[in-house]
Amino acid sequence: MTSGQFENVLTVHTHEQNGMLDEFHEDYENAVEAVGDDLGENHPLWINGQAVETNESFTVTDPGNFDRVIGEFAAGGPEHVDDAVEAANDAFDDWKDTPFDERVAIFRQAADQIEDRKYEIAAVMGFENGKNRTEALAEVDEAIDFLRYYSDDFERNEGYTSAPVEPTPGQRCVSDLQPYGVFGVVTPFNFPFAILVGMTTGALITGNTAVVKPASTTPLTAHLFVEILTEAGIPDGVVNLVTGGGRDVGQPMIEHEHVAGFAFTGSREVGLKIQETFDEMGKRGPVIAELGGKNPVIVTDSADISKAVSGVKFGAFSFSGQKCSATSRVYVHTDVIDEFTERLVEETNKLSIGRPEDEDTVVSPLIDDGALERYNEITELAAADGTVLTGGETVDDSALPDGRYVQPTVVADISHGHELATDEHFLPFVTIHPVSSLDEALTKANDSDYALCAGLFTEEESEAETWFDRIESGMCYVNRSQSATTGALVQAQPFGGWKFSGTTGKFAGGPWYLQQFMRQQSRTVVGDVGQP
Ligand code: NAP
Ligand code: MG
Repeated sequence: MTSGQFENVLTVHTHEQNGMLDEFHEDYENAVEAVGDDLGENHPLWINGQAVETNESFTVTDPGNFDRVIGEFAAGGPEHVDDAVEAANDAFDDWKDTPFDERVAIFRQAADQIEDRKYEIAAVMGFENGKNRTEALAEVDEAIDFLRYYSDDFERNEGYTSAPVEPTPGQRCVSDLQPYGVFGVVTPFNFPFAILVGMTTGALITGNTAVVKPASTTPLTAHLFVEILTEAGIPDGVVNLVTGGGRDVGQPMIEHEHVAGFAFTGSREVGLKIQETFDEMGKRGPVIAELGGKNPVIVTDSADISKAVSGVKFGAFSFSGQKCSATSRVYVHTDVIDEFTERLVEETNKLSIGRPEDEDTVVSPLIDDGALERYNEITELAAADGTVLTGGETVDDSALPDGRYVQPTVVADISHGHELATDEHFLPFVTIHPVSSLDEALTKANDSDYALCAGLFTEEESEAETWFDRIESGMCYVNRSQSATTGALVQAQPFGGWKFSGTTGKFAGGPWYLQQFMRQQSRTVVGDVGQP
């Protein structure tokens, strides 16, 4: 392993640099056609290297086209969780004792297979959760990056083992990091591949085994990863996939006495519940939880307004704001707020709302009926308590199939403490707030339970310094016109949150991530009774 900069897979960027965007579009469109023909199949659970049928099942449909059935999926229950945990428990000893380089080789192999199939996986994701082509490809790239970055990290650290030392004559000592046992892995719909791949790989490469439950709306991309790991040679029982509801599958996983640790990404409510349950049951294993956000952006009076408008537009509205990192509140200096707001509204009105497979789509369909209901509720509340500058309606366009299409929404005249400006909505919805100084903006930006991502637009170095000194946030971006708060890259921009946005303060895609899945042991042997 050579040291230095990790090389991210940047499919779209690389095609653009090489003048090959046409080929990118062609490859994606061919994949969309090929995948479309294969949808609608039955998908059993995967336990101990075997397909397991269940009595109950659930149907997943395309959020942007209700006529398209993604598949019929086995609905697991507590009994399947028991079987999966037992299989994972039985597989643990052998997997933990597998030499670390053999484990790493499996994940490198999986990364290569994903790279070969990246257009297919991106196309599946588009149908399953509505993500557009460039973002879906970027997500598959991120999954490959996680696999390779964690493989490099584990190898560079020799599996987190140490060479023996002899601090005093006759005492031979080693100190290693060791896995805990069975991990529960529960994932959200919005990054159904990258987050699932990242968390599962974190648990497995370090020698734990896992039971994985994807979001009920996005089980197909999860199946693809388990299939790829299986082809790459992961032993039976090391990874088990139980699809089904949060209550029926997720909850029994949390409560299972043999689930030693948990990796979760999703809402604050569920994440904190996991931690509470672990505490109540006296479980000492880690709960590695990445939770919600209410990501603030500050636009100072020195800002380049074009950059700020572009950054907020993409930060708030790409994938319909269904990102933990989405820009959701913007504090703008009163000297520039009129120009900023006017131009943001103008640019927002030009955004293309549509099907993921359409080339221009930025604003994707909403994932489920609950999201659509929340959209209707908060836009009504915004109209009652503030001013809806644009958006607020569902899209009525006969050219679009039957799906959950809504307008990106910009709202003003909402007080900083209003629930619309404090609660996470996970929708294409942003509030604009006037401020008279950077100091006021920082105070308001930090006045939140969440602290995941934050953005600043300024042309003054001293403002950037002040902001970096004071902003409470896991990820902090200055003048990022491609998106004020979203779109982190593995290694360069490790991803995680402070406060109620995360439980560990050690971020995905960063150098301290894997260590969380292990615990240390110091071993000493005095005399000649074997090795420590
Ligand atoms: P969610 O409702 O919390 O669901 C996440 C996962 O938890 C799903 O697999 C869900 O299953 C499961 N679940 C639901 N109730 C459960 C229970 N009682 N016990 C165990 N598992 C349960 O979140 P979401 O709607 O999918 O995703 C949106 C949230 O994720 C937002 O809050 C967002 O900020 C957060 N997020 C955070 C990050 C980050 O890195 N910080 C990244 C992405 C998303 P079902 O699908 O079957 O309900
Ligand atoms: Mg949910």
